[in-house]
Amino acid sequence: MPTMGALHQGHLALVERSKRENDLTVCSIFVNPIQFNKPEDLAKYPRTEEQDSLMLREVGCDVLFMPSVDEFYPSQVLTSINFGTIEQSMEGAFRPGHFSGVGVVLCKFFNLVKPQKAYFGQKDFQQCAVVRQLIVELDFDIELVICPTLREASGLAMSSRNKRLKPTQLENASKLYRALQTLAQVFRDGLPLKASISTIKNTLEQDGIFEVEYIEFVDTHTLAPVGIKHDPARVVVCIAALIDGVRLIDNLLVEHE
Ligand code: AMP
Repeated sequence: MPTMGALHQGHLALVERSKRENDLTVCSIFVNPIQFNKPEDLAKYPRTEEQDSLMLREVGCDVLFMPSVDEFYPSQVLTSINFGTIEQSMEGAFRPGHFSGVGVVLCKFFNLVKPQKAYFGQKDFQQCAVVRQLIVELDFDIELVICPTLREASGLAMSSRNKRLKPTQLENASKLYRALQTLAQVFRDGLPLKASISTIKNTLEQDGIFEVEYIEFVDTHTLAPVGIKHDPARVVVCIAALIDGVRLIDNLLVEHE
């Protein structure tokens, strides 16, 4: 399972699941420079390698793969991957080049580690869809295992980036989850989606705490925007917002959660 470190319970749940389902679990920690479109976001990404390796040891992870950037990318990476329509919305639209960087690092990991299964978190919903496409279209003989999002008691999705938030900001950040719950209910009740998105966006932004990048209802597989008539079993509502410059993402399946 690939990670960028600053590990939390969400990551450890992936390791634990892999341990239950496999003989050998490999976890990587690599803050992949080519998937960051903003240098300041890369520079500020939390790095807690010593604590991370202790945590992995405690949960019994068998192998930690933690290459340096120079060792992993001995020369400038010239390859890029275009995932087509699946990366044209949401993260792909707001972070140009992001999924190309994700695709390149994963191809390298898959070739180096040769896993039978790869564990990813639903928290990064679009990433899961991109990885699914990568595995299928490039014939990687790997089973993709998607694990549910682990949350704080407040509902806030666990994230390495939460480490950059002060206590009051953490409290505010949990509003994102409540916004998703409201929107999932909006879909189930058959209420107008656009108007509801705009109301929720305004509410989140009114105190100047959040800057909402996007709120979208999309198809769980194609990630194309959906309308109210779409099969609810195939609808996920996704959000990305900045809170004091810290970018958070989250999502909720409208039917199951
Ligand atoms: P990251 O270190 O943020 O790149 O995440 C590494 C893996 O852990 C990705 O597959 C994430 O989707 C997953 N992950 C991150 N946060 C959570 C969470 N709160 N619950 C479950 N999985 C998570």
